Amino acid sequence: MHHSDFESLGLMPSSLEALRHEGYEKPTPIQSATIPSLLAGRDLMGCAQTGTGKTAAFALPTIQRLIQNPAKRQPHKARSLVVAPTRELAMQIDASFAAYSRGSEFKRACVYGGVGKVPQIRAMERGVDVLVATPGRLLDLKNDGAIDLSAVEIVIFDEADRMLDMGFIHDVRKIIAMLPKKRQTLLFSATMPSEIEELARSLLSDPLRVDIEPEKPTIDLITQSLYYVEKGCKRDLLVHLIKELEVTRAVVFSRTKHGADRIAKSLHIAGIESGVIHANKGQGNRTRTMEAFRAGETPILVATDLAARGIDVDDISHVFNFDLPTEPETYVHRIGRTARAGASGFAVTFCDTEEKRLLKQVEHLLGTTIPVIKVHPYAGVHRAPTEEELRDKMFEDRSRDRQRGRGQSQGRGRPPAPSGERRATSGRPAESRPSSGGQDRGRQAIRPPSAPVRSSTPARPAAPQHDAPRRDVPRRDAPRHETPSRSGRDVRSVIDEITGRRS
Ligand code: AMP
Repeated sequence: MHHSDFESLGLMPSSLEALRHEGYEKPTPIQSATIPSLLAGRDLMGCAQTGTGKTAAFALPTIQRLIQNPAKRQPHKARSLVVAPTRELAMQIDASFAAYSRGSEFKRACVYGGVGKVPQIRAMERGVDVLVATPGRLLDLKNDGAIDLSAVEIVIFDEADRMLDMGFIHDVRKIIAMLPKKRQTLLFSATMPSEIEELARSLLSDPLRVDIEPEKPTIDLITQSLYYVEKGCKRDLLVHLIKELEVTRAVVFSRTKHGADRIAKSLHIAGIESGVIHANKGQGNRTRTMEAFRAGETPILVATDLAARGIDVDDISHVFNFDLPTEPETYVHRIGRTARAGASGFAVTFCDTEEKRLLKQVEHLLGTTIPVIKVHPYAGVHRAPTEEELRDKMFEDRSRDRQRGRGQSQGRGRPPAPSGERRATSGRPAESRPSSGGQDRGRQAIRPPSAPVRSSTPARPAAPQHDAPRRDVPRRDAPRHETPSRSGRDVRSVIDEITGRRS
């Protein structure tokens, strides 16, 4: 049976009130598929990522089970534990527990690295109902005697594949070994590499399995566009588009930390202030940047993929892919930052000559091509790279090599798309894509190749011409593109299958 309202899921009145306060009208597919079973104490293997509403799916039943089975809090002990890969995600989960336990007496603590331990030790002194933690700091505080995991009744591992990527799997195993045998266990992972399958087998007992793909429902609401642009002109094009398009709040994704800093610097020179987050920024700095972004004080955020993982800010109007990601799935994660909670959004991607291979992989994953904006002030503009840009490129190449080395050793990710397998079904006129390899042909350079393009926008830039219909067109009921990823089934059919099987 498909539950179409929160009341029918068996949630307690204070949770329903908290949900009303959040403004949620009906459960997302993962919520209706999991909440009744989780309330009954069942284990869960959830294949789902950020944006599906999975946090509420695990937080609401956890809160309810603990409140309905009261137990005395004990010093240093947590009744439930959530393990998450990044500080940002941990903080966000903690904030979700705060929101969903509104009106109840529910004690929380959140521990992560990069900040002082003392406040975290204090928070655990009298024990908590939920502890949200990153693996390293959790083990650290456990070794210090500040945390005791012997009373954990419910444990949730969030973004398990990311923990694997980040090298936390041994820490995760150590944490598991410290937990009581009798407990409820939930495991969430966006992808299922063999290590995660194995972990699930050893960790879960008769779990409910739920597979939710957020790509399709989200992607339908996003207007995607592609700009072919020389590497040396990307920053100028970004400045131009931020000024030209109705950007209210945007995330600019950079493949590298160094690149992110350079983007922010050129935006600053052009009079556009932005925040930057990447792994080299201190935690205090990252928190402040995120707060300013969330509050709309700095509406542009420049981020690397790792730092941006798990960031959940509503009303992001645009996502800019300054660089194409090395893993095609990352493209979907990135653009999913816009069009949250049913809103529409724009995803703008830059592609230089060297990135065409990466673009092909993305389009193969999407099962469609991204509409190309052919006319823009930097179309076909060539410019010799400056010394600074050559240095950037060296940094990027090095870090890409490092990333590749890692990717291969983990055996994750999708194999590159065989060329020619792309299906042009996006509803865009066939001629809007330049013929193979010749997007510059027949296009006039608006500046002589020797004249460097400065960060100011040309006096009269050509207005972007969208081949794709804008805001009004992508609708939930629009025909969906078939996605070759994972199973290719749509979310509803997955849910129907699960709930049908269970009811
Ligand atoms: P998550 O996948 O848990 O990161 O949640 C993604 C976003 O969806 C967050 O902004 C939540 O606040 C929001 N959200 C979760 N459940 C619902 C719901 N039932 N209705 C509307 N928004 C929701």
